Amino acid sequence: YNHQLQRTEKMEIISELAASIAHEVRNPLQVTRGFLQLLSGKSVDHDKSYFSLAIQELDRASSIITDFLTFAKPELDTLVELNLQHELAQIETMMTPLILLNNGEMEVHVPEPQIILGNSSKFKQALINIIKNSIEAIQENGHITINAWAEEGIAVIRIVDNGEGMEPEQIAKLGEPYFSTKSKGTGLGLMVTFRIIEVMEGTLEFYSEKGKGTEAIVRFPLVSNPSSKKTSLLPQ
Ligand code: ADP
Ligand code: MG
Repeated sequence: YNHQLQRTEKMEIISELAASIAHEVRNPLQVTRGFLQLLSGKSVDHDKSYFSLAIQELDRASSIITDFLTFAKPELDTLVELNLQHELAQIETMMTPLILLNNGEMEVHVPEPQIILGNSSKFKQALINIIKNSIEAIQENGHITINAWAEEGIAVIRIVDNGEGMEPEQIAKLGEPYFSTKSKGTGLGLMVTFRIIEVMEGTLEFYSEKGKGTEAIVRFPLVSNPSSKKTSLLPQ
């Protein structure tokens, strides 16, 4: 038991380190990017392609951090009760600036509390990777709708965008490491998302049509007797 406790503490330290490194490394990357851009503006044509390559690689490093490590948190103390209403409200707040930057709109509807088991940080990482793809897929009049509801013991989260959509061959490759159709993509976002959802005993499905948009459906088992109702904490 003691050994287990120590291991948990170590994991906690490591993953908190990962999250703070992710945060701390982004700043110098951004500063470096700014200076490279400045120098590129002053450089001769012949050198510009080197600057643009350097900037692209910095952006790739930032994206890897975002897809993988933004919410890095421990594996072990993980399974707690999460209220989707609360989690999705936080996600909405976090994503709104990026959506506005892309001239899109987002609506989130979670009419009732839905309780599932999971890890809040990882859940956010999983959902944000999906939503970020929607944001990157939308053009003008971009719209993203997120709904969550309960259905026969299952919590269903539906994320719909009216973005560029996908061909069937693309859909088949979702979640494969390094599959990306973006010039600055990592192709790691959905791999991480599928893995997190699987660990939380959920499922993820995509439906998409080229030129129309994409729908992601996430399902998790609902907790039928949430322990937030105090009685269930009492000994049986
Ligand atoms: P990345 O975003 O770095 O390319 P992801 O694993 O997040 O990697 O996504 C893989 C690919 O799946 C994307 O490059 C894109 O082609 C496709 N994709 C995922 N979500 C969407 C979406 N909502 N609309 C259109 N294409 C999508
Ligand atoms: Mg992505």
